[in-house]
Amino acid sequence: MKTSTEIVIIGSGPAGMAAALYASRAGRETVMIEKYYPGGQAFQTFHIENYPGIKSIDGPGLSEVMSEQATSFGAKLMIQEIRSMELHTNPKRITFRNGDELEAQAVILAMGAQPKHMEVVGEKEYTGKGVSYCATCDGAFYRGKEIAVVGGGDSALEETLFLTRFASKVTIVHRRNEFRATKIIQDRIRKEEKVTLLTPYTVKEVMGNEKMTGLQLVHRETNEELFLPAAGVFVYVGYAPQTELVADQVEMNQNYVVADEVTLATSVPGVFAAGDLRVKTLRQVVTAVADGAIAAVSADHWLDHQGR
Ligand code: NAP
Repeated sequence: MKTSTEIVIIGSGPAGMAAALYASRAGRETVMIEKYYPGGQAFQTFHIENYPGIKSIDGPGLSEVMSEQATSFGAKLMIQEIRSMELHTNPKRITFRNGDELEAQAVILAMGAQPKHMEVVGEKEYTGKGVSYCATCDGAFYRGKEIAVVGGGDSALEETLFLTRFASKVTIVHRRNEFRATKIIQDRIRKEEKVTLLTPYTVKEVMGNEKMTGLQLVHRETNEELFLPAAGVFVYVGYAPQTELVADQVEMNQNYVVADEVTLATSVPGVFAAGDLRVKTLRQVVTAVADGAIAAVSADHWLDHQGR
């Protein structure tokens, strides 16, 4: 089946949702495409308290409201997996895994980022059997159990606070003695009785039999090894942009899309970038939604200039 639209948005995290809201309110026929479910990384975040105007909300809650609002002005949400994109053609062409095609006059790239893996022995084998990248999704499975979290950023520490609701003990394994997480989160973590900090250690292997039983760790300075018993490990070692589909089509810098700071236009006319997948300094919900709004307005102006 072949369909067409004026603006297509790839991804439905906060950047995509804001773009859909602004594009549809500008009167443009808008389609937002998502592979699994709307919300992006925000959906997997248990607690958001730095989005101005909302004192505190859980990620799924914010995603639901954003999704309702984004589609309330006519933008269509399409759950489909994309196989390929042709951005240099006019119109631009999107081909889905099932063979369907969508043509669009302008494209907003908002695919976001996905969790990085530790790339250690046993990680893949025990994914779903102890190794997880989403505390919101899997935390409740570890009620009364001892678990580990790997990483020292905002994600690792914030999700640890959530995991203390279920686990009897959470050990944060971090490769440095200093944490890069925001100070207020570090202070909360240090006051939490169920949390132990283990530094400077890296994970050598995820150990187990049928299920994961623990982590084999290496001390960064002495090289001494230590076995940390854990029924599960939540991995928060950063995120990588999801840009494989467009890697050879738009200008990139270290796998991030390069976009003009004023218009968010990419190197390809009619293609704009919004959110965590682009080169920028601060990757947060608040900056993602700002990007989405700018990209949608720029796409609308670009279509105007093309006489469409
Ligand atoms: P991040 O800030 O990139 O932190 C990744 C952490 O993992 C770092 O502590 C890093 O160690 C460690 N790490 C990286 N590779 C590793 C490896 N191979 N093995 C072991 N440890 C490794 O990632 P994030 O915490 O997911 O945050 C991503 C972005 O989202 C940040 O900009 C963050 O501020 C933002 N964020 C904000 C909030 C909030 O504002 N509430 C919440 C979540 C995320 P080093 O420190 O040694 O490099």
